[in-house]
Amino acid sequence: MLSHLNPPQREAAKYLDGPCLVLAGAGSGKTGVITHKIAYMVRECGMEARNIAAITFTNKAAREMEERVGKLLEGGLAKGLTVCTFHALGVRIVRQEAKFAGLKPQFSILDTSDIMQIVAEIAGTNDKSVVKGVQWAISAWKNAMITPSEAVKLADDETKALAASLYPAYEKTLRAYQAVDFDDLIALPVKLFDEHAEVLERWQNKLRYLLVDEYQDTNGAQYKLLRQLTGVRGAFTAVGDDDQAIYAWRGADVENLRSLQTDFPKLKVIKLEQNYRSSNRILNAANTLIANNTKLFEKKLWSDHGMGDAISIVAAPSAEQEAELVAMKISSHRFENRGSYGDYAILYRGNHQARLFEQQLRNHKIPYVISGGQSFFDRAEIKDVMSYLRLMLNGDDDLAFIRAITTPRRGIGAATLESLGTYAAQRGSSLFTALFEEGATEHVVARQLEGMREFGNFINKLEYRAQRESAAVVLEDLLRAIGYEAHLFETCEQREAESKWSNVRDFVDWLSRKGEADSKNLLELAQTVALISMLDKGEEGHEAVQLATLHASKGLEFPHVFLVGVEEGLLPHQSSIDGDTIEEERRLMYVGVTRARRTLTISYCERRKSGKEIRTVEPSRFIGEMGDGLKYTGGKKAEPVSQQDALAKLAKLQAMFGTKPAS
Ligand code: ATP
Ligand code: MG
Repeated sequence: MLSHLNPPQREAAKYLDGPCLVLAGAGSGKTGVITHKIAYMVRECGMEARNIAAITFTNKAAREMEERVGKLLEGGLAKGLTVCTFHALGVRIVRQEAKFAGLKPQFSILDTSDIMQIVAEIAGTNDKSVVKGVQWAISAWKNAMITPSEAVKLADDETKALAASLYPAYEKTLRAYQAVDFDDLIALPVKLFDEHAEVLERWQNKLRYLLVDEYQDTNGAQYKLLRQLTGVRGAFTAVGDDDQAIYAWRGADVENLRSLQTDFPKLKVIKLEQNYRSSNRILNAANTLIANNTKLFEKKLWSDHGMGDAISIVAAPSAEQEAELVAMKISSHRFENRGSYGDYAILYRGNHQARLFEQQLRNHKIPYVISGGQSFFDRAEIKDVMSYLRLMLNGDDDLAFIRAITTPRRGIGAATLESLGTYAAQRGSSLFTALFEEGATEHVVARQLEGMREFGNFINKLEYRAQRESAAVVLEDLLRAIGYEAHLFETCEQREAESKWSNVRDFVDWLSRKGEADSKNLLELAQTVALISMLDKGEEGHEAVQLATLHASKGLEFPHVFLVGVEEGLLPHQSSIDGDTIEEERRLMYVGVTRARRTLTISYCERRKSGKEIRTVEPSRFIGEMGDGLKYTGGKKAEPVSQQDALAKLAKLQAMFGTKPAS
């Protein structure tokens, strides 16, 4: 089973005597080590799959890993294995231990837009930048396990001071709604484990071995969770690459790599040096590029895939032309090579860049799927439907209550909701609960109350059915009962209504299929929808060009990669140029380059529209940092920073930081 692993990979797969860290560059088989190790532990060491948990960075990666392990472990041996993200594991823990967290198991998971709404309400402002700033600050504190009282001391600017003052109210509101935010999904289990030794013990016994992929992007709270679960035994394997740390902006901390060594003195560190993914030309460019960063760890990477094609650098006069050029290149390349569209990926820095490429791919009749885009689940029509599901799941979810009862309109006005709200606040209960209490009659006009109670009964009935009937049937009945299609056509223009309704249909089909596949009922599905990003919708197209942000492309590989919009201001992003965080952008570029197996095309525009004006833009400095294996088409040639120069610079930096220079 381990026969096609190379010696260090095999060593990592077989090492079970203590904590293990596989530290290696892109495409060296780190993720592969995890899958093989799981198979090895089950087949050769007699461990039970249900005692093993593998943690991936995205839901999509989890599914891929599950599939790969399934192939290695036939005959039901993989049954009970946990493969999921840290957040999904958190949901499981909080759901099972809900009473310790002061929640009911049907708590709601709020997404970013719900959270923004709550923050706006408690801050009493609709100023987007203030709301966002407050939300970011609170989120960062939660990720670092900083309590409201500690936050007050740490707040060193106006926004943070405001955030610290709102932090307690924010937490109180969430609890009142029986709701959690994403950060709670990690922070709550950590707190629970800290406070209840018996709960921790239960989970330590359940999950006896942990494997963590993309370890470099874990944050402080996730690291703490890992430490708690693996306890003194340190029964885990983490794999990662410090050069691919690209989530610092979300609280991830590469220092967690170094902490492993201090927190686990017996840590076994295994390095992998052979890259199995890319041609040498691509690998050299990636190595030369990343040598411009100061490094935490020394790593080497080589490949025996031969030199391969030169990396193509393409300049286009405008963004439209760039998109068209890429579409044409994909079309002709696929034709010449008799390949599949699924072999091609277009990667970009920001979601907003996708639109032009989508248009051109459509013009050229090229099938594509887009992942990591503006979440499907953020669309108003999907959130409308979701509000009903959330309310069925959790009657305390006031946000869901208000949205559902007012969409479509049922003649319940703001004034009515406000009187109900006042009464609910007096009682310290949710709107839904208050609705059915005796005293409600004194606060709300009888006819209005009757209408609302009717709505409440409707939700209760549906909830009863949702636990017994298939998700598909209940969903269809729900949509029919509330007349949602008609509502769309009454409130929107024809074309918009059609498109919205088709999204709702997609959503229903998708939930129905998911319900069947995972044998989950509608309420179980509804609880975790917030965790699912568009990454998961992108799976259904093996014959389609993949469009993804660089962040979403992590861990993936494609025969042919187009890195687009590689310009100063976009990659590196302007905010990173201003904020002096170029190294993170360089790692992002490194992630992009190392997704490619056979060919890599890098494109940029010479002029780009920005607001109303058209600006001249410069090709990214990163192009010049990739060494000399580049072939230019149009545009001006970047002044190459030679590998020697880059290495000399690196040695100097390492001397400064006291780390060993790479050879
Ligand atoms: P990344 O850093 O991008 O996440 P990774 O280190 O996780 O990369 P994998 O995705 O596990 O790398 O592997 C990269 C490619 O190399 C895959 O196509 C995998 O099948 C192949 N590969 C890994 N190990 C071997 C091996 N020993 N022999 C042949 N192919 C291998
Ligand atoms: Mg990987």
